[in-house]
Amino acid sequence: MPRTVLVTGGNRGIGLAIARAFEKQGDRVAITHRGSGAPEGLFGVQCDVTDAASVDAAFSFVENELGPVEVLVANAGITDDTLLLRMSEEQFERVVDTNLTGAFRVAKRASAKMLRAKWGRMIFISSVVGLYGGPGQVNYAASKAGLVGVARSITRELGTRNITANVVAPGFIETEMTDVLPESRKAEIMKAVPAGRLATPDEVAAAVTFLASDNAAYISGAVIPVDGGLGMGH
Ligand code: NDP
Repeated sequence: MPRTVLVTGGNRGIGLAIARAFEKQGDRVAITHRGSGAPEGLFGVQCDVTDAASVDAAFSFVENELGPVEVLVANAGITDDTLLLRMSEEQFERVVDTNLTGAFRVAKRASAKMLRAKWGRMIFISSVVGLYGGPGQVNYAASKAGLVGVARSITRELGTRNITANVVAPGFIETEMTDVLPESRKAEIMKAVPAGRLATPDEVAAAVTFLASDNAAYISGAVIPVDGGLGMGH
């Protein structure tokens, strides 16, 4: 059955691959952007996840055009890496506000309609770094680890209403976020990843569409790694 899907930050990178995967299987897909517009063929809505009013307006727009959001993919995220000693409180809070509080804002806004429909899927895009840690990433790791608590608490709150909440934790994926890494850092990563390569955004999208499917109805509160074995055991 086609669903209405909203992917935050779906204008590029992993979010775009996720949006395309849902589009391919016939769902009604909306993506958010912050002014860049929507990629060809996708329904776009402007939204800044750090602003609750912007989130509310974006959801209302999508609901009017495509119907209530049944599948929410909280994907929008940023990094602002630096060592703990140098990290300002503002740097810490800005990353947490986007990655963690932003996910809370969209999940909260989506939940009322999911409750009414007695069906819903929430998928939070975390990172292997959330549970593995990363030097220079105290802010990012904290925000991504926090998503696990969010998904698990939502699972306990809304589990009886056919609403699932899961986390997908990608490892290193070929996107603009990893393009900026120095070659030496990339070589280090390849050595650490059992699969010996970066993943494609489509490999993340495959896990997300599975979690949104009827076949995944009994999977909730899970953390699904898509990391080539990098974070095993976490
Ligand atoms: P990109 O940097 O390519 O894209 C980030 C997306 O988030 C963009 O669409 C951007 O919008 C959006 N965004 C950022 N801030 C906000 C905001 N305040 N409000 C709304 N949208 C916002 O990232 P990736 O595709 O690489 O990453 C997507 C997700 O996957 C992120 O959560 C990231 O942390 C996670 N991830 C990525 C990994 C990787 O290797 N690339 C590994 C593990 C996790 P805009 O275009 O307007 O800037």
